Amino acid sequence: MDFTDLTIKSASELLSQKKVSALELAQMSLKRIKEVDDKLHAFLYVAEKESLESAKHTDEMIIADHEHSALTGIPYAVKDNILVKGMQATAASKILENYKATFDATVIRKLKQVSPTMMGKTNLDEFGMGVSTENSAFGPTKNPYDLSRVPGGSSGGSAAAVAAGEVLFALGTDTGGSSRQPASFCGVVGFKPTYGRASRHGLIALGSSLDQPGILAKTVEDTATIFQIMAGQDELDTTTLPKPVPDYSKFLKENLKGLKIGVPKEYFAAGLDPEVKTIIEQGIKKFEELGAQVSEMSLPNVKYALSAYYIILPVEISANLSRYDGIRFGLSAPGKNLEEVYYNTRSAGFGAEPKRRIMIGTYASSAGYYDAYYKKAKLAQGLIRDDFKKAFEKVDLIVTPTSPNVAFKFGEKTSNPLSAYLEDIFTGPLNIAGIPGLVVPGGLTKQGLPVGIQLIANHFAEEKLFMAGHALEQSLNLKLKPNI
Ligand code: GLN
Repeated sequence: MDFTDLTIKSASELLSQKKVSALELAQMSLKRIKEVDDKLHAFLYVAEKESLESAKHTDEMIIADHEHSALTGIPYAVKDNILVKGMQATAASKILENYKATFDATVIRKLKQVSPTMMGKTNLDEFGMGVSTENSAFGPTKNPYDLSRVPGGSSGGSAAAVAAGEVLFALGTDTGGSSRQPASFCGVVGFKPTYGRASRHGLIALGSSLDQPGILAKTVEDTATIFQIMAGQDELDTTTLPKPVPDYSKFLKENLKGLKIGVPKEYFAAGLDPEVKTIIEQGIKKFEELGAQVSEMSLPNVKYALSAYYIILPVEISANLSRYDGIRFGLSAPGKNLEEVYYNTRSAGFGAEPKRRIMIGTYASSAGYYDAYYKKAKLAQGLIRDDFKKAFEKVDLIVTPTSPNVAFKFGEKTSNPLSAYLEDIFTGPLNIAGIPGLVVPGGLTKQGLPVGIQLIANHFAEEKLFMAGHALEQSLNLKLKPNI
């Protein structure tokens, strides 16, 4: 058995047939992490002892109960901005270097009820700000398809860990594309739910009106299995809605007859890498072959999304990150008085990108500038939401590229922050509109680099993403695997 070939579905079948135990799965995962993570640096913390103990306990439980859920005993990893009780949660920032979580995030609590095995915490851009994991205070993660390239970000560690077969799935977060863009760069499935569908409680807040927990997995079916557990209302996150969660597995079919798919022309404008374009177009052709009706459409206001995002998010960042003051959490640098403690702690603890965004956000929301920036951005957000609302009166799904380019080389976008912000051009609009998205691998470029196709649905229509994503994946039948 090759651990790197397993999916959640196949591993769970092996567990049922008693061909493998949860402990053996955890051991295989640890072996693979030891084999490749020196090269990749996907993990900030490997939970060796904890995972073996938990897997042993799971095996005892399986024997006692004679049954288990689809995720029981499955090795997975968690982005290091999601709280797991008793474990580090650094958000890849020096300011939280020695912080240990005192409670479980709701998504972790829900997962623990079905006992998958947590293998460790994965790398990210500091607090989730970035597109490459180069903004991690603890060194970047590398792309398993080409070690001279970035894995994407901010959930780059989670994407690389799944792509390299270190774990069978990983949790990410997604504020502007952080689960979807790394999925595209690493050839795995990436998912962001509707805002309000899954709980944010216990996610280290970046932009509270945009954040959602995300999933990185090997197949769409696996993603739906994980989301089935994560989705739903949570009294600890008042932005979650009491809508019933459908049985997603019922929607996984292989025929898309009657499904209406829109292709927005704004997503195929100048700046899109021609090879990326070709792979997305091939995917769209597949959808037609599967019976979907594809039509061109327009989202005229989506061109404002990036500008709105890079005002709204920094404003929320400047508020959310004010809690790191040297008194309440993590790092505390000495000073002669309280103001100096704040100053010294925040100067030493935050990297360049958080500092930049705190300044932009403070400026854009301060008296005198609020109307010109924040208020305008919120107005643009309304227009973008209306665009999508109108579009979904006519189509079931929208199909687009995920990123204008494939995984880029280290250092390519570090000197100019704007060039990194442009990476979010296709993913950010979904967070601005609060709608869900799924990235499915579409193929490899001539150089052997993965390209993901982004599917977009209306609020709370995740089942349509899983349906179309699964059908596309089955018919493309890519079985991507990096050579590492
Ligand atoms: N690239 C986005 C940013 O830097 C990603 C944010 C996210 O989804 N965490 O803001």
